[in-house]
Amino acid sequence: MKPPPLRDDCFALPAGVEWTPVSTAFAHLRDNLVPVAETMMVPVGAADGLYLAEAPTAQRANPPTANSAVDGYGFAAARVPDGDVALPLVEGRAAAGVPLGTRVPAGFAVRILTGAALPDGVDTVVLEEDCTVAPGRIAFRGTLKPFANTRRAGEDFDAGTVLFDKGHRLGPQDLALLAAAGLGTVRVHRPLRVAVLSTGDELCAPGAEAAAHQIYDANRPMLLALLARWGFVPVDLGCCADDADAVRVALDAAAADADVLITSGGASAGDEDHVSATLRTAGAMALWRIAIKPGRPLALGLWRGMPVFGLPGNPVAAFVCALVFAAPALRRLAGGAFQLPRGQMVPAAFAKAKKPGRREFLRARLNADGHAEVFRSEGSGRISGLAWADGLVELPDAAADIRPGTPVRYIPYGAFAP
Ligand code: AMP
Ligand code: MG
Repeated sequence: MKPPPLRDDCFALPAGVEWTPVSTAFAHLRDNLVPVAETMMVPVGAADGLYLAEAPTAQRANPPTANSAVDGYGFAAARVPDGDVALPLVEGRAAAGVPLGTRVPAGFAVRILTGAALPDGVDTVVLEEDCTVAPGRIAFRGTLKPFANTRRAGEDFDAGTVLFDKGHRLGPQDLALLAAAGLGTVRVHRPLRVAVLSTGDELCAPGAEAAAHQIYDANRPMLLALLARWGFVPVDLGCCADDADAVRVALDAAAADADVLITSGGASAGDEDHVSATLRTAGAMALWRIAIKPGRPLALGLWRGMPVFGLPGNPVAAFVCALVFAAPALRRLAGGAFQLPRGQMVPAAFAKAKKPGRREFLRARLNADGHAEVFRSEGSGRISGLAWADGLVELPDAAADIRPGTPVRYIPYGAFAP
């Protein structure tokens, strides 16, 4: 099933705001993006990591019938007195998958194993460890509660129960629930294909011979690896020169092969910013100046209906913007609900007088005490700081006076994953 297209103005932020607060940018993405990947039926066993396109309902109850929770002896509690009890055993036994098939008369017990359906005439089970067993009979000390050691039919869930909301991303544990509920297939969105393009005349492929005026394309391996970790299908579109025609050809290639494009570089409003200039010719581009550090303008647009995230070229800004904005947006485009990472409050292991106005993300990691330390330099050119860190500390938009011990929000890199 093909989803409806995104609206042309889906990235149009309200005019007149010079620096858009991060929360406004989030609200805009949450309210204006819709899933773009088609839906399909897949076997439950192939659905891990995919987003549900329909809320599945249980086809049967779990457990489907009352059964024994232990290995022991089953009987009808109402017919057994308190105190010392001796009961004759019926022939045969009830085991998981092998029902007894006959009724157990009142005042008799039957050998029963874990998971076996309770035979007619049985509602309670005594643990085998609590019994003395003699040929043809058992004895135990009574006062067992009726239904002891049994599982009621439907005690886990009833038939017809809605198991997950639409948009839920399935994990291995969810496949267990779907299978137990009798579902063979589920409707999901096919995996989102996300293309990555680097732009800049100065870029040189990793590992190649580079002239002094060239730099290595650091963004592409980083962004492709993020996408793969996030469970999307990365599509490598290579590097493209700062040239309007070359950018247009690359955008066309992306639109032919991917659902979404992430570019880096050339996203601002300068002479050589061909990504934003070219997207603007398509008439559906907005330059987002978000009050975030590190960050540069983001160019968000549609190219032949394909959403494009134009990230800044600076690797630190590109990485932070990918985690903070692209990850939740991609989750929504893939079929999930818009959702932000939670992070955890930990004591700071640093001091900082933060000015008001911009939300700041510091490269951080936890020290041996579980306190957040930050990289020695906030310089956005320092790729080494990204690699040094394990996550980001998010400081609020307002001013903040951080001292060692002040609680700060630490978000491990992995927690940004959609
Ligand atoms: P731009 O956003 O194109 O103005 O680029 C900002 C800075 O990031 C410049 O110093 C670029 O050389 C650098 N840059 C752009 N793309 C990449 C890339 N793929 N890898 C490493 N640095 C880059
Ligand atoms: Mg550039």
